Amino acid sequence: MIVDNVYIYDPSMPYPREGLHAVEIEEGKFKDILPSPYTGSKEAIDGGEKVLTPSFNDSHMHLLRFGLLKKELDLTEVTSWKEMKELVENHYDEMEEYDWIFGKGFDDSKFDDIDHLLTAKDLSEIQVNAYIYFMHEDGHECVVSEKALELLEKEKEFEDEPDEFKETDENGNWNGRFKDTAVHYIKHHFWGRSIEDAKEALKKAFPYLSEHGITSVHSDDINFIGSYEQLWQAYTELESEGLLPIDAHLHHYIFNINDLNNYLERSKMRTGDGTAQVKVGAVKIFLDGTQRLYTAAMRNPYPVAPSTNGTLIYSQEQLNEMVRVSAENGMQVAMHAIGDRAIEQAITALEQDTANTKQLRHRIIHAQTLGPDLVERLRDLKPYIETQPSFLLGEWDKKDQWTPKELVPYCDAFNSLVKEHIPVTLSSDLPIGALDPFVSMYTAVTRMDLEGNPEGGWMPQEKISLAEAYQGFTKTPAELEYKDEEKGRIEAGYQADFVLLDRNPLDVADEEIHNIKVLETWHRGKQVYKK
Ligand SMILES: [Zn+2]
Repeated sequence: MIVDNVYIYDPSMPYPREGLHAVEIEEGKFKDILPSPYTGSKEAIDGGEKVLTPSFNDSHMHLLRFGLLKKELDLTEVTSWKEMKELVENHYDEMEEYDWIFGKGFDDSKFDDIDHLLTAKDLSEIQVNAYIYFMHEDGHECVVSEKALELLEKEKEFEDEPDEFKETDENGNWNGRFKDTAVHYIKHHFWGRSIEDAKEALKKAFPYLSEHGITSVHSDDINFIGSYEQLWQAYTELESEGLLPIDAHLHHYIFNINDLNNYLERSKMRTGDGTAQVKVGAVKIFLDGTQRLYTAAMRNPYPVAPSTNGTLIYSQEQLNEMVRVSAENGMQVAMHAIGDRAIEQAITALEQDTANTKQLRHRIIHAQTLGPDLVERLRDLKPYIETQPSFLLGEWDKKDQWTPKELVPYCDAFNSLVKEHIPVTLSSDLPIGALDPFVSMYTAVTRMDLEGNPEGGWMPQEKISLAEAYQGFTKTPAELEYKDEEKGRIEAGYQADFVLLDRNPLDVADEEIHNIKVLETWHRGKQVYKK
C-alpha cells in the first residue's frame, strides 16, 4: 500500500525531505520512502499534498481515568453545592442498591453557596444509603461520606498513610477530606471495577486519542480498576477483539516494597514484555504531592504558606530499595516528583549504581521545580524527564506563590534540560492537562497561555524549538519503550504510525501551533481516524 503525494515533516531526520513523496507501507511498517508521483503497481491512495508526520506518543497519562470520566458522573462543570447535589441525585436516580456513589472533577473552592470546602458532614445532605466518594478536579484530593469514613477507620493499612494527607476537624477527627496517597488508597481498595466496565470506558476514550493523532500511550491506571491483572486483561482483550487503536504501556503503581515484591513473584513479565500492542510499563512511585495543596516536597517553605514545605512520602532508604529492587528485576521506574526536595530524592535514588539508570532509562515525572545543582546532577545522570507543558497555561502566574523568587526561573525549565541533552518527553497527564499535543507543543515553544499571556512568554529563556517539542512526542518516548529503531520516525523499517496534517508545522508561526489540525491518523499502517 502506498500513500502518495505527501510532504514529510520529521524533525528526527538529520536533513529535511524536500518536495512531495510517496510512502510505502507493508505489514504495519514503512517499507520505503519514494519520490512522488508513484509509478509502481501497488495500490496507492492520494495524500492530496498534505503533510505526513510521525503520530504522537503520550508518555504520561491516566487513560482509564479519562475514559471513566467520559462514562461516569462528571462534576467538572458544577459551580455550586446545590447544583452538585442535584446532579448526583439525578444521576443516581433509580436509587436501588448502590454500594458506592461516585463523582469526579468537582472544584468546591469555586462554589458560591457554601463558605467552606465540602466535608463528610455536608455529604450527609445527599439522602442515600451508600458510601459516597467524590474526587476533586485535580485528582489529588477527595471527600468521602461519614459512612465511608467508618469503613476507613477499620482499615489497618490505611493507618500507614501519612497523617498530613488526612484532614481533621477541630476535635482532631477526620473530616472526610483526604489528599494524595490517601486518595490513591481509597480508589485502590474500594473502587475496584469490573473488566467489562474498564473496557467500556477505554472504548469511550480511544476516539479522543485518534482525533488528536495519538497512537501510543504510557498510562498509569491501576488505581481505577483494582489490580494489574485486571487492567492487563482489559487492554489485551480489546487488542484481540481488534478494538485497540493504540500501543499501550501499562505502568504498575506501587505503595511500598511489598507491592513490588508481590508483583515480581506473581508475574514473570518485566518492562517491555507483553503482546504486540500491550506492554508492561514502569513501576510508578509517588514521591510527593502537588503544589496547589502545598504537599509537593520543596527544599524551601512555600512563600504563601511559610509554615510548610510539603511532604515526602518515603524515606531515602525506602525509595532507594524500591528503585534498586525494580532495577535488579529489569523494571523501569517512573517517579512522580514535583517539588525540588522530591526531585533531589529521585536523583539520589537513581544515582545508585544498582539502579542501572542509563540502561533502563528511568523516568522522573513532572520535575517542575529545579535548581542549578539539580540540573547539574541530571546532566550527568540523564534520566528521562516527563514534562507537561500545558500545566503552564494555568500555573505560570502562581509559581512565585510556591517557589522562592530566586528559584522561579528554574520552574518548568525545559530549555535548561534540553540544552544539557537530558532527554525530555512532552505529555498530557490526561485528564489533568491538555489532550491535544499541539497545545502542549505551543506552550513549550511560546510559554504563553492560549490568550497569548504573558506577552513574549513566561521565562522566555526556557522556550524550546518546535522540532525539540515534536521529538518529545515522537522519538524520545519511543526510547522509553526501548524502540529507538522501531518507532517514532518516518523511515523504512519503522512502525507505520503517522498523521496527515492540514498544514506544515515548518510554515506555521509559533503563535499558531495550537491551531494545527490532524486530518488523518494511522496506527500500524491502518487508518484509525479521518476528519
Ligand atoms: Zn499523572
